[in-house]
Amino acid sequence: MAEPRVAQLVKALPLGPETRLLTFALPEGEIGFAGGQYIIVNTRIELPGGKLAKRAYSILSGDAEQKQFQIAVRRIGSGPGSNFMHGIAEGAELEFSGPWGKFVANGAPVGPRLVFATDTGITAGLGLLQGHGSRTLADVTTAVWFIESDSYFLPPGFARESLLGLVREFRIAAAPRTTDSTRIASAIAVLDDSVASTLPSSAFLAGDGALIHPLRERLVAAGMKRETIRLEAFFNNPERRVQS
Ligand SMILES: Cc1cc2nc3c(=O)[nH]c(=O)nc-3n(C[C@H](O)[C@H](O)[C@H](O)COP(=O)(O)OP(=O)(O)OC[C@H]3O[C@@H](n4cnc5c(N)ncnc54)[C@H](O)[C@@H]3O)c2cc1C
Repeated sequence: MAEPRVAQLVKALPLGPETRLLTFALPEGEIGFAGGQYIIVNTRIELPGGKLAKRAYSILSGDAEQKQFQIAVRRIGSGPGSNFMHGIAEGAELEFSGPWGKFVANGAPVGPRLVFATDTGITAGLGLLQGHGSRTLADVTTAVWFIESDSYFLPPGFARESLLGLVREFRIAAAPRTTDSTRIASAIAVLDDSVASTLPSSAFLAGDGALIHPLRERLVAAGMKRETIRLEAFFNNPERRVQS
């Protein structure tokens, strides 16, 4: 892993029953991220087996600001990472590495673009869409958030406000719960509807790996080139590599 870095938590805000919005500041220099990238937080919590719990969190704030950045974390049961992020006090220091990731606008083809986020994956979508590299495609971008309820993560109004002027259309679609057997079919129906009039030139899919992989196959079957579709799986990742 790269050199550990440090940021200070300057503000923490509850944004829902299980959601905390965290603003971090760097003591010096800039983070150097592009919209859509994530950091890996070292919680220093030892897991059974002796490894330290390190967890990835996407930066949801715009990349015009590089001295501070924001992260939103949903508490996942008694999970070590999300509970650490919910417990960290204002003024405390966070050890992290990064920024990491290829979920960025640079290099994607020009033309209609689809950003499809499920669940907590909206943070990667917000970071991407607020990024400098996304500005030129704002008028041809459709964003979709597939989410089970208004209180599941970030409030819908927060997402809508963050995307004002940055997309042609932002749509929130009701998702069955992760345990529901109709979830994949429902996500595919929302996807089909979103691309019914125009097949995108590029697509960015973030969130539940059990959904975004089949969604990519659907887009490829509809005629999109595989290399124009970027994925960021937050959980259920069939190519799991980040979590320790
Ligand atoms: C690139 C990347 C970016 C991420 N960005 C964010 C972010 O911005 N905000 C955020 O809250 N989380 C984000 N995550 C998820 C985060 O890294 C942790 O997995 C999450 O906080 C749970 O960690 P934990 O240690 O609390 O629980 P664990 O004990 O590690 O997880 C418990 C189980 O819940 C699953 N899980 C994780 N997230 C969810 C979810 N949303 N819904 C259902 N099950 C889930 C895990 O895969 C695991 O099986 C991101 C993950 C990746 C890979």
